[in-house]
Amino acid sequence: MRICVYCASSANCDPDYHAQARRLGGLLASEGCTIVYGGGGVGSMGALADGALAADGDVVGIIPRFMTEVEWQHPGVLRLDVVEDMRERKHRLLTGSDAVVALPGGCGTLEELFEAITLKRLGLYFSPIILVNTHGFYSGLQQFLEHTIAEGMMAKAHAAMWTLVDTVDEVLPAIRSTPPWPQDARSFAALR
Ligand code: AMP
Repeated sequence: MRICVYCASSANCDPDYHAQARRLGGLLASEGCTIVYGGGGVGSMGALADGALAADGDVVGIIPRFMTEVEWQHPGVLRLDVVEDMRERKHRLLTGSDAVVALPGGCGTLEELFEAITLKRLGLYFSPIILVNTHGFYSGLQQFLEHTIAEGMMAKAHAAMWTLVDTVDEVLPAIRSTPPWPQDARSFAALR
C-alpha cells in the first residue's frame, strides 16, 4: 500500500507528537507500506521519515524546489521528488495513494487534509482518510465537522469520509476496515 501522510513541520510542539510520528513511520514500514510525505526533515515530518528509514522502509518525499533551496528536505530520504510548487506537491502526494493519514499539524497539514476530504466528497478520491487524534488534537475539528453536518452544509453520509483513531497503532486496522467509498459519491455531493 502507498500511504500518504500529512503531518507537522513544527519542532516546537510536545515531543510526543514527534514520537508518535516516528512510531507510525516504523509501523507502516514494517508492514511493507510505501510512505509518501512532504519530504521535510523537521518536526513530525522528519520523525516520520526517521522511523520508516530505521525500519528499512520505502519513503518517497515530494518537495517544492523552493524548500530544497533552503535545505528543508530530509537528508536521509533518497527518493526525493522535487516539484515546482505547493500545488503540484499536493497533487502528487494524493494521487495514487491507497490511504491518507493526518497526524496533528498546522495549517499545511489541515489544508492537505481538507483537500483530500473535499475531493472524496466530489468523487475524485476514494481511499480511506484517517485522522490520528493524539492528545485529543482532532476532537475539536471532529466536533466542528459534525456542526457543518448539523447545519446542513454536508450530508450525514459525508461523515463517513474520514475516521478518527486514538493512536497510530490503530491506523492500519482502520485503513483495512474502512468500507469502500461509493463510486457514485458525486450523486450525493451536493445538498438540495
Ligand atoms: P504544517 O502542518 O503547517 O506544519 O505544515 C506542514 C506542511 O508545510 C508540509 O506540507 C510541509 O512540507 C510544509 N512545511 C512548512 N514548513 C516546513 C519546513 N520548515 N520544512 C519542511 N516543510 C515545511
